[in-house]
Amino acid sequence: MRIIWLGHGGFRIETAGQVLLIDPWLSGNPVLPQDQHAVAATGATHILLTHTHFDHVVDVLPLAKKLGVPVVGQYDIIGFWSETEGIKGIGFNKGGTVNLGGVKVSMVSASHSSTMVTPEGLRATGSEVGFMIRAEGKTVYVSGDTDIMADMDWMGTYYKPDIGILSAGGHFTMDMAGAAYAAKRYFNFQTVIPSHYKTFPVLEQSADTLINGLPGVQVIEPVVMQVIELWSGTVLTLGCEDQRIAVPRSHGCGLPRPDRFLHGRPAYDFNLMGWRHWNIRGLHERLDRGRAWPVWPHR
Ligand SMILES: [Zn+2]
Repeated sequence: MRIIWLGHGGFRIETAGQVLLIDPWLSGNPVLPQDQHAVAATGATHILLTHTHFDHVVDVLPLAKKLGVPVVGQYDIIGFWSETEGIKGIGFNKGGTVNLGGVKVSMVSASHSSTMVTPEGLRATGSEVGFMIRAEGKTVYVSGDTDIMADMDWMGTYYKPDIGILSAGGHFTMDMAGAAYAAKRYFNFQTVIPSHYKTFPVLEQSADTLINGLPGVQVIEPVVMQVIELWSGTVLTLGCEDQRIAVPRSHGCGLPRPDRFLHGRPAYDFNLMGWRHWNIRGLHERLDRGRAWPVWPHR
């Protein structure tokens, strides 16, 4: 599974042979360079929409028409567009699940608003939502724009998402402290990726509060258009004096192994899911060859 941040609330998720664009905002996105727009959308198989505020919807219809791919979202707006815009649409609603070529997407609640400015004025377009995306044996929770919700309690228990892509920029959504609180209280994420931040001065510019609030969870600070490669399973025990020195902090911290020391240093278990490919290239090669690689080079 490859997750690529398009900046702001936009993501490209490549999994199980599908390429999902979620709230792709290209035109006018201050953090997505113009020369990356085509790359961001190339090969997309579906466009998922959480709500119709401009920073999420502005490119959805043009992209759907250009690429000839379906827009997946709430029935109210998708049904309307299917009739008025002639797009392919997959409209459903909260509690429903659709199968996008083997990727299962369930619609869940969010707590935000959803309107659209039209020549006739401000229009209601249904409601704001989030998604639970299941593929490759993992579940990704895309929160959409939202505040902390009590609904996250049952959503965490019912869907058991492994990866959380959480709006955390504040002002319009949860801030970093709020996202950390929600993740800790309601979910058991292995990996958390903050979104909807850094775009404008009014939003959070750093994920430090989220990282510090979630010890033991891999918090990955996304970089626009850089691939975050996630794969499941392998737990690796590394020896390191200080977890924050042993690995870049954006990869989160390992779980301490009080029973084990490596080369005289405390050991930590790291779940390899969430490690960026380019950071573990050498390690990956060694694992492929079945050789042990117990100590991350440090200091
Ligand atoms: Zn937004």
